Amino acid sequence: MTEAQTVAVNKVVDAFTVSDDRLSKIVQQFVIEMEKGLDHQGATIAMIPSFVAGRCTGDEKGSFMALDLGGTNLRVCHVTLLGAGEHTIRQQKYIVSEELKTGPMRHLCDFIADCVDSFLTENGTSESHEVIQLGYTFSFPVLQTSINRGVLKQWTKGFNCSGAVGKDVTILLQDSFRRKNINVNIAAIVNDTVGTLMAYAYKHPETTMGVIMGTGFNASYYEDMSKVKKWTGNKDEEMVINMECGAFDCERRVLPMNVYDNKMDRESINVHQQLYEKMVAGMYLGEITRNAMLDLIDQQFLFNGESSNDLNKNWSFETAYMSTIEVDESDDLSDTGHILESVLSIPSTTLVDRQIVKRLCNAVGVRAARLASCHIAGVLTHTGKVGHDCIVAIDGSLFEFYPNFGNNMGDALAAVLGEQARSKVKFDLARDGSGLGAAIIAMIAAKK
Ligand code: ADP
Ligand code: MG
Repeated sequence: MTEAQTVAVNKVVDAFTVSDDRLSKIVQQFVIEMEKGLDHQGATIAMIPSFVAGRCTGDEKGSFMALDLGGTNLRVCHVTLLGAGEHTIRQQKYIVSEELKTGPMRHLCDFIADCVDSFLTENGTSESHEVIQLGYTFSFPVLQTSINRGVLKQWTKGFNCSGAVGKDVTILLQDSFRRKNINVNIAAIVNDTVGTLMAYAYKHPETTMGVIMGTGFNASYYEDMSKVKKWTGNKDEEMVINMECGAFDCERRVLPMNVYDNKMDRESINVHQQLYEKMVAGMYLGEITRNAMLDLIDQQFLFNGESSNDLNKNWSFETAYMSTIEVDESDDLSDTGHILESVLSIPSTTLVDRQIVKRLCNAVGVRAARLASCHIAGVLTHTGKVGHDCIVAIDGSLFEFYPNFGNNMGDALAAVLGEQARSKVKFDLARDGSGLGAAIIAMIAAKK
């Protein structure tokens, strides 16, 4: 590596480095924003009461359907709760095309209804004359007015259907079921973070937070409703709050956004929104890294100054490549070379090129994990639980597959709250919990 190259690469890496001091400032601001969200409607972090009150016991029983929309696939599930924390699940995934994601909402709802219909036919559940109760995991910011009513605030994560923002999304889907004579009642609308929390709590009732780190990033936790000023319902209970924390700091007070983040943000379909999510979630990390690579290419410090058509395409550098590159420990970084040359058609790469790309991936990935820990430190601080046992149930491919993500989160948590506090917090992988969670919530709703 030449001296000039080293200087240029260090400068890019520095732009992604977040000091412990900065982490503390972010946590402080996060607590302030949480409290604003609990105080009044319309705050940056929406802090949405989920209408899921009380804890799971694990003894809940019955059969329910669940839908999960808002990630990579639509999932249709049939869940049987057996009690004692046990359950069985049958599920089918359906691909939601880009056309459906950005077309009229009615087409999307009709598509979902058709998927439910074919699932019921294939699984022999459509013969029943009883109404089937369904939990609808809809993982976008919804301002809930009851357990099965809620208005879409805005789209995120690449969805942008017309005729949905400001409307009640359960009514829209229920209408499609009705038009198609599908005997299903939407008993609950569920955010995926809330579903993840409930699903994990079915086996581990002491779970206190549910977090998603996949395509998007969001979290929920148990709140004492007497502390929620904007809440006009029963104040004597605990309820799960869907934070919608991906929207944190859209004012850009504390998040250390750099030129590579800004470029990605401008190219996104929700410009200036979800800035915290955009620095953490799987949908965006690859694109941020791509921007950093292009900068070094343009300065002639990477790939001999030559990009490729593939690498020049927006969003062409997937976050999953970063995981592969980060675990590549071979002498010649051959997996890294393969991604760059075979997948992205860079004509040829030197070992130094590969090392630089690996450093960039690491810088973006470590920053994501460190920033991701801030919301957990914020919740612990706000709830007065720093130093208490805490189980955080986390779902999402980023957390599951990105090398060292959990450890880096833990290090950042220790930097802000201390080693003792960190040792009490467990980050547990709660894979695909939202189907089970939605079924549990549908059961709670149907009982009422
Ligand atoms: P969803 O959030 O859509 O329900 P996932 O939890 O599978 O689904 O998350 C998908 C996101 O995770 C994608 O945006 C992708 O960028 C990211 N991802 C997928 N595989 C990996 C991987 N091996 N390493 C890091 N990120 C990954
Ligand atoms: Mg998911």
